Amino acid sequence: VPGRDWDRAVGLVSSADEVALACHISPDADALGSMLALGMALRARGKRVTASFGERRFRVPRLLRFLPGQELLVEPGAYPPSPELMMTFDVPIADRLGVLAANAGKARELVVVDHHASNTGFGTLNLVDPGAAATAVLVEELLDRLGLPVDRDVATCLYAGLVTDTGSFRHSSTTPEAHAMAARLLATGLDPEEMARELWDRSPFGYLRVLGAALDRVELDRSTGQGLVWTFVTRADRAAYGLPYDELEGIIDVVRRTDEADVAVVLKEDDDGAWQVSTRSKGGVDVSRVCAALGGGGHAKAAGFTSHLPVEQTMASFRALL
Ligand code: 5GP
Ligand code: MN
Ligand code: MN
Repeated sequence: VPGRDWDRAVGLVSSADEVALACHISPDADALGSMLALGMALRARGKRVTASFGERRFRVPRLLRFLPGQELLVEPGAYPPSPELMMTFDVPIADRLGVLAANAGKARELVVVDHHASNTGFGTLNLVDPGAAATAVLVEELLDRLGLPVDRDVATCLYAGLVTDTGSFRHSSTTPEAHAMAARLLATGLDPEEMARELWDRSPFGYLRVLGAALDRVELDRSTGQGLVWTFVTRADRAAYGLPYDELEGIIDVVRRTDEADVAVVLKEDDDGAWQVSTRSKGGVDVSRVCAALGGGGHAKAAGFTSHLPVEQTMASFRALL
């Protein structure tokens, strides 16, 4: 990100009395954490802050409810219709703002903070660095340039984004800079053990049964050059245990460990009957390309899309693009 863009961002944020923040729909820890981190710091500086994501059925995923700063959140209906200054976090394309895309379209200034290579530059100012391990990395830099302190709560939100987007410091984004940032955040006294338990090591009992059902029907397809492992979870699977959709996030991490496959896919039926498709690659295939061709997007090794077709049809289209 060029220095003059940082300077413009600092100018816009410093002079605003009111700031409206938004992250992508189906928020993950980087999206929500980045947004809440900046929101808490700006509120402590005396600014009026609203934060949201554009889902009609507005609900923070259970895994992320431990993040501090949730009192900043408002439902999309209560969001400023045409904000003076709006900022987005971890959003590569305006579509991923959901119903808040309309608000972004009417914002006087729209500052886009993101690290997706596919970012379309839909802001009036774009702080976009595909080399950043997480959007949280860019937020830390913005806080520093604004002269805003990172206290334990702010650090907890930033660390959640950093640790999840680096895959617990396993992905290629695990650089010396990423570890140095982790060290700075840990120095505030945040509790990494508690955070790891909240993020990865707890779920309702029904999750085990639903995971079992997903693994029961998993397929290994070697007909594609790279090897493809895939499975799906239906609404009915979840209904049997009252398991909310957002509890399914970890299934892909079990499926993708398969040695024989470069590409892993989990199709998850949401409460409206649409299929949210999670895809992962070990590097042989750029899944963001495949998902983009199917109306979605993401990163080369982790991407997704939405499908309204039956599972077999969706998989046939997916295979054809590999
Ligand atoms: P996940 O499988 O964890 O839901 O998503 C993996 C990655 O793909 C994330 O970076 C996420 O932002 C991106 N992604 C997932 N679904 C979609 C989608 O429908 N559209 C776009 N543009 N990106 C998606
Ligand atoms: Mn994200
Ligand atoms: Mn991210």
